[in-house]
Amino acid sequence: AAEVGGGDKEVVRDYFNTTGFERWRKIYGSSTEGVNRVQLDIRLGHSQTVAAALRMLRDAGPLAGSTVCDAGCGVGSLSIPLACEGALVSASDISAAMVAEAQRQAEEALLAQHSPDDSPFRMPDFHVKDLESIGGRYDTVVCLDVLIHYPQDKAEAMIGHLASLAEKRLLLSFAPKTLYYDLLKRIGELFPGPSKATRAYLHAERDVERALNKFGWRVRNRGFVSTQFYFAKLVEAVPAGSA
Ligand code: SAM
Repeated sequence: AAEVGGGDKEVVRDYFNTTGFERWRKIYGSSTEGVNRVQLDIRLGHSQTVAAALRMLRDAGPLAGSTVCDAGCGVGSLSIPLACEGALVSASDISAAMVAEAQRQAEEALLAQHSPDDSPFRMPDFHVKDLESIGGRYDTVVCLDVLIHYPQDKAEAMIGHLASLAEKRLLLSFAPKTLYYDLLKRIGELFPGPSKATRAYLHAERDVERALNKFGWRVRNRGFVSTQFYFAKLVEAVPAGSA
């Protein structure tokens, strides 16, 4: 039950390949078997973040043919609907278990109606990779609910790296640091549950925005999702000089 985090990447990787994989696959799935009330609430909140991100992404026009990097893709909750809309998705995650599950779910979703040869959609390109090792350039880079594993001093460099991969826009979601949520988190930490195993870092919106500005980006759009146990800020950033 103890907290085993500390922002250590190895710990996060191990967690998301073992107990964390089982926990989050359940939360991000659709079955209700063995899913408790808190997990169902987190599922609801997370699905709203994915829906809000998809809305923001569609705002600039159809996604077909645009290149998207989904950094820390989990089980593919965003990559799969993006690929279904014709986006060319490159998805990666530090956890091999997550990537294998994302690949399986994508095959099920995308190839169910089409044989690989006549599918109008391209399967996302899945890779096991930590964020810092992602290379290339993409129209859009998205990173949902991953910053929670980064303390603020590492978060800034991570935001800089993601921005360097993006041509047109960058979407980030994170658990907001406010007095209220900080307090809730502290109360939560007094009662560690058996399956909450990594340290969680909240981020002040102004710190995230300051980091984006430092790397030449500005926030164009914002969203906020909150359910009982899930809170996320979503920001869409564009290069500072663009409309
Ligand atoms: N973005 C996905 C979504 O919203 O459905 C998954 C969110 S889940 C809470 C966090 C994910 O980040 C996990 O799949 C974990 O393995 C991944 N992750 C954590 N640290 C990472 C890192 N340094 N590089 C790449 N992925 C990482």
